[in-house]
Amino acid sequence: MTLALSVLLAGYVYLSNRRSDVNRTFLFLICGALLWILANFMTDTSTEVFIIKFWSKVTIVGPIFIAYFFYRLSILFPRRKVEAKRLNIVIVIVTCILLAFVPTDLNIVSVYFLPDNIPAINPGALYIAFLIYFAVLLVIAFRNIFDGYKGYNPVEKQQAKSISLGLGISVLFGSLANLILPLLNHSEFVNYGPYFILIFIVFTSYAIIRLGMFNVKVIVTQLLVFVIWIFAFLRVLFDESLLDRSLDAGLFVVLVIFGVLIIRSVIKEINQREKIELLAADLQKANSRLTELDRQKSEFVSFATHQLRAPLTAMKGYASLILEGDMGKITSQTKDAVGRIFESTNTLTNIVDDYLNVTRIELGTMKYAFETIDFKTLVEDVIGELKPNIDKATKVKFLFGAENAGTDYRITADRDKLKQVIANLIDNSLKYTPSGSVGVSLSFNRAKHKFVFMLKDTGIGIAPETLPHLFNKFTRAGNANKTNIKGTGLGLFVAKEIIVAHHGTIRAESDGEGKGSTFIVELEPFAKA
Ligand code: ADP
Repeated sequence: MTLALSVLLAGYVYLSNRRSDVNRTFLFLICGALLWILANFMTDTSTEVFIIKFWSKVTIVGPIFIAYFFYRLSILFPRRKVEAKRLNIVIVIVTCILLAFVPTDLNIVSVYFLPDNIPAINPGALYIAFLIYFAVLLVIAFRNIFDGYKGYNPVEKQQAKSISLGLGISVLFGSLANLILPLLNHSEFVNYGPYFILIFIVFTSYAIIRLGMFNVKVIVTQLLVFVIWIFAFLRVLFDESLLDRSLDAGLFVVLVIFGVLIIRSVIKEINQREKIELLAADLQKANSRLTELDRQKSEFVSFATHQLRAPLTAMKGYASLILEGDMGKITSQTKDAVGRIFESTNTLTNIVDDYLNVTRIELGTMKYAFETIDFKTLVEDVIGELKPNIDKATKVKFLFGAENAGTDYRITADRDKLKQVIANLIDNSLKYTPSGSVGVSLSFNRAKHKFVFMLKDTGIGIAPETLPHLFNKFTRAGNANKTNIKGTGLGLFVAKEIIVAHHGTIRAESDGEGKGSTFIVELEPFAKA
């Protein structure tokens, strides 16, 4: 028996610092319960007085374990508490003294039989001391569990309740059947006692599992290994011949070694898994933080660009008043300078608008006001508004033609946004075509049942490697910089978003640099609901 205890103790020490303390402590609590059940079973099934007396003495070892480890558990659970070192030392010494006297007759004085051959005991002084020990430890543990109860979170509170309920039920019935009634010479319920401890274990496991502090896999593995060890050890004890005994002892040693290896590997695996889970959680945290930062950035840009718009509008307005002579006569030199101011302000307004649109898209706050409009009229309007730019590109021949579609060009669209897209496309073609032609055509594709806006220029073209990224944010081809340094690379990104919101498609084609480009927008005709 002493050997078995040393093995358990060694296992305990060995597994220290390896797995969460709660796990280990709980495991030993369960071992105590198992030992109790085993001892009771042996007492019950044995017939020889000597053996009954032996197992009756062993019976109190389990409860000592249970009391001691429950006390340990109460320090760690539901929340780790500062440990009273001195109290702990006293308790450990008392526990050792109790264990040391277990084999003596101070524990069980004698065994006798009740009618029907039910064994009964005459408890000794140690038995009484043990009862006091058990009760005192339970009170201390109980106090520990509820220490700081007010500061517990709801889960911890529930754990504390769950443990105390399980404890209450099992201590009440268990001690009644096993400790108090035997003292009053009623040992017939002794056999049921150990089963009450199961209630307590179930409640406590439930409490611990809820906090996720404890790993069922480790506990089950450890438990199985310990049970195998105990059985192997018992075989050694009960073997009759020396040969059997040495064979079983050898088997026992092998089982101990392999058991330790198995437990170690399971713990290692679980530690690694936990590490990975922690890393994943960290990653998720970082990710949500970045998403939040990104949102804040978009909001800031949106705010800043909004603030920029008002002064720019004022600058444009006054510049145009001066240019038109509303502020009195100006010299041609001044006119030239103010003309440049007007142009630059215009460019800046467009850039600000691009950024504003991009942030709206990113924040999901882009609003559309859909109405039924005529696509052809819209394109003609845009061309009219771009007249100054078309006239300025003297080396570019501008053409516009609309096929007679056999129907009007009615579509459902946000007029201003669609205008912005068409204007941007035509403007791009003018910008990126130093000389040659820019042709705009409108037609109806009967097979696809779509209106087709096609813009063909003979300009700088687009390299095949740029084409797939053309509609991404900030894409600017290398050749674009040479022709027009003012671009932002946002216009096509915004255009694509707007066209997609119109359930349409937009795409670009080009045979390569210097070979011109074609932009095609397809939109559904207006459909009566
Ligand atoms: P920006 O013109 O302000 O740079 P856009 O998003 O409107 O931004 O255009 C993105 C890029 O697409 C341009 O920088 C240019 O490289 C290319 N691109 C657009 N239109 C044309 C075109 N008609 N011909 C050649 N390249 C074009």
